[in-house]
Amino acid sequence: MMNFEDFNISANILKAIGDMGFKKPTPIQKMAIPMALKSLDITAQAQTGSGKTLAFAVPILENIFIPDKSPQAIVLCPTRELCVQVADEIAKTGKYIKKLKVLAVYGGQPIGKQIRVLKKGVHIVVGTPGRVIDHIERDNLDLTGVEYVVLDEADEMLDMGFREDIEFILKNATFKRQTLLFSATMPEEIKKIAKNYQNNPKFIKIKNKSENIPKITQYSFKTNPKHKFDDLCKLIEAYDIKSALVFCNTKRGVDFVFKNLKKMDYSSEALHGDMAQKTRDKVMNKFRNGNIAYLVATDVASRGLDISNLDFIVNYDVPQNSDDYIHRIGRTARAGKSGFAFTLVSPQDEYSFGNIKSRNKTVIVERNIPSEAEIENIKNKKILTKVKQSINEEDFDKYLKIIKDNSTEDMTVEEIAAGLLKMMREN
Ligand code: AMP
Repeated sequence: MMNFEDFNISANILKAIGDMGFKKPTPIQKMAIPMALKSLDITAQAQTGSGKTLAFAVPILENIFIPDKSPQAIVLCPTRELCVQVADEIAKTGKYIKKLKVLAVYGGQPIGKQIRVLKKGVHIVVGTPGRVIDHIERDNLDLTGVEYVVLDEADEMLDMGFREDIEFILKNATFKRQTLLFSATMPEEIKKIAKNYQNNPKFIKIKNKSENIPKITQYSFKTNPKHKFDDLCKLIEAYDIKSALVFCNTKRGVDFVFKNLKKMDYSSEALHGDMAQKTRDKVMNKFRNGNIAYLVATDVASRGLDISNLDFIVNYDVPQNSDDYIHRIGRTARAGKSGFAFTLVSPQDEYSFGNIKSRNKTVIVERNIPSEAEIENIKNKKILTKVKQSINEEDFDKYLKIIKDNSTEDMTVEEIAAGLLKMMREN
């Protein structure tokens, strides 16, 4: 059994950790803190909820030199939400370090204020890659004195297209730095970044024990009652949600969503407490067997539902309280599988959703409703990914020959490709 005291860290950090109510280090903290304190680079596979923020906050704070007011650590996170959360947790952990300045920088927030704070001097910057680069290019942020670079949720950042930005930042940060990389998954791309930009990193993998937090990716989306239903449809399109359990708070809400989904030709059914038990069972069975794509339900109706292979939960309405939220999202990611839980948040739900977020064990990442253009892009990319796969298949040459033989000046190879894409899109 290990305690925070065993890390040999400053009393003021220990005191702050005590104030946060943490009794024992989590597995990632047990492994990463001692390594990072020894100045080693780390590549850690750990999920949100594992306590990874504290795992990098402690070694950074332990080595901050307060009289030097230039940034000594930079933490890159995929979203604004996460930046704020991480900056908060670092500030809390360092609350007894006098004059410590931690700043979150992210897009969407007026840049002027960030510039003023940066000019006054900050020790730790937590930012989204895009905004960090903005500050570097405007000479507000100088990375030459940075001793720590943290890539938080690296896989998520790559998925969001931040690869070049991350590489730019790593190239700009001093060579002597220590680089700590955290990622829920370890695809090749992440390993490549580790290889190219880390110095002999130690690999850590934290297993997600089944009794640990299930692997539910939780996103929230700001919406408005006026276009909430359209936003739901956009999510269905953009995330390719083939089947989902959609929660509403009222029976009226259930009816509204279910009827409108039907109008859009989505196969859906309603499930609420006013329905006869027999009908409810019938609907449930249809959903279980995959004969209904979207089941729109109230909380009461969902009690005890155990559906395997349910990938998506959508909270069309923000649940009344955090217990309902946990209960709803727990319908996915059963038996060690993973899943997604999306929540649509209207302005009037912000307060109750704030409560849910603060009680939630894991992070609910805020994302934007995809635009029409983004949805278009996603659909095209999906087809092109499939095309790419088929190019590697054995009998591909046969098809290549057909195209070559049939291409003319009036119908070039490029035009044939575009025509095929158009046909697939219209199908
Ligand atoms: P993270 O994976 O960093 O997002 O952390 C997930 C949650 O666990 C956050 O709410 C942390 O405040 C909390 N946490 C971090 N370390 C510990 C610990 N040693 N014991 C209990 N909770 C912790």
